[in-house]
Amino acid sequence: MSSNMDTYSDTLLRLRQSFQNGKTRPAQFRLAQLEALAKFLEENRTEMFQCLKKDLNKPSFEAEISELSMVKSEINLAINSLSSWMKDESVSRNMATYLDTAFIRSEPFGVVLIIAPWNYPVQLTLIPLIGAIAAGNCVIIKPSEVSQSTEKVLSELLPRYLDQDCFAAVCGGVEETSRLLENRFDYIFFTGNPTVGKIIMTAAAKHLTPVTLELGGKNPCYVHDECDIKNVARRISWTRFFNAGQTCIAPDYVLCSENIKEKLLKALQATIHEFYGEDPKQSPDLGRIVSDRHFQRVAAMLKCGKILVGGQTDQAEKYIAPTVLVDVAESDQVMQEEIFGPILPVLSVSGIDEAIHFINQREKPLAAYVFSSNSQIVYDFLERTSSGGFCANDGMMQTTIISLPFGGVGHSGMGMYHGKFSFDTFSHKRACVIRSDGREKLNDVRYPPYSDSHLNFILSMTEVKKKGSCVLL
Ligand code: NAD
Repeated sequence: MSSNMDTYSDTLLRLRQSFQNGKTRPAQFRLAQLEALAKFLEENRTEMFQCLKKDLNKPSFEAEISELSMVKSEINLAINSLSSWMKDESVSRNMATYLDTAFIRSEPFGVVLIIAPWNYPVQLTLIPLIGAIAAGNCVIIKPSEVSQSTEKVLSELLPRYLDQDCFAAVCGGVEETSRLLENRFDYIFFTGNPTVGKIIMTAAAKHLTPVTLELGGKNPCYVHDECDIKNVARRISWTRFFNAGQTCIAPDYVLCSENIKEKLLKALQATIHEFYGEDPKQSPDLGRIVSDRHFQRVAAMLKCGKILVGGQTDQAEKYIAPTVLVDVAESDQVMQEEIFGPILPVLSVSGIDEAIHFINQREKPLAAYVFSSNSQIVYDFLERTSSGGFCANDGMMQTTIISLPFGGVGHSGMGMYHGKFSFDTFSHKRACVIRSDGREKLNDVRYPPYSDSHLNFILSMTEVKKKGSCVLL
């Protein structure tokens, strides 16, 4: 057994003992840890901005709105709502249990593992952590090794703020995570790509550990003929090129009819110029690709179809210009895998039916977008497609509303979080009934010797009756 393995099992043992001693259960403890997390965020703001700059050249505007501010809102919501979230939820009873107390108790799972990716390394590590703390769990976080600077802050500074008997950080990549996963956890929350998601789920299955998988995929964006082309181009460009395209819910490709394609392409070209200037490489508002490996992967996609806008690269800076591709084939690499970079292919379809057919032939995406000023088209698209989240006439906005769940469906993941959904994700919903130890006469009907009259009486007291008329007649 390696020394790392020993460290992991020692850490797990320490956390498990704290959990079993009930240390994380009281609301006061959870609140104190959430406040400590807020303090960490406040006191290390500058470091965090610097790390995000180093890892992804993330503009501070983007870092603020998509990482730090989102985490702060989640902490504040959890602090404000914790007492109501933690309350037992009473439920309706049937006649047979009318005198009993019946409720759902949210109880923590135990020791939770949170594995995060590199594209929003602060947000995607800390928002799940907030939910796990609020729900009363002990937690190990495993930030991504790819966003190295942020990994360092999260693993070295954060643990100083939190109770070290209950919370820990583990660093490393595939090798370390694989060894970590050999241990038994009570819940695993993973954000990353679907291939790794399968590895995580397989490891979890060995211990029957429940999982949330926040995965990725290709998010379609259908632009209908009836729309404000200029607004569409601005909204698609911002959400596609934000964080240099390395966003799991970014529109991955555009489908539109030949009628508006020319106009849309012109508007995209004008918008890219308006947002990032003559030479986007000089723009302070454009991020960079996170690593050489990802740079090579994304740059290879520039060979697909024809470049209409952009296409320039600089390997030394891991720079890829905001790019619009046309004439791509469905079999091209750019349409076969998640792009996760600043490239936007625009494909032609005959109309909404072909667009929906195109989308439904593929795996269910994390997000689906439709642009149209005709609300019938919007609702038709919503009704006939499926995705983790949905937004009409914009991109990414579904993730800014804290009361909406965030998560995938099918190949884009399972489970959800954000706000109260995070608390629920990290809580086992325990079904509880508290009966009197007296009133035994009432139970006589259920004991042998059985009789039809007792059976009929029990059924009349317990069966749920259907309301309304039968739809088949
Ligand atoms: P990734 O799956 O490569 O890595 C995620 C985490 O898993 C990292 O911490 C990494 O160290 C670990 N890991 C990688 N390979 C592993 C293995 N073989 N065994 C065990 N652990 C392993 O993902 P990434 O490249 O960091 O992130 C990009 C992907 O994440 C994209 O597919 C994107 O769509 C997805 N993503 C999804 C969401 C979401 O909320 N649904 C958010 C961000 C990113």
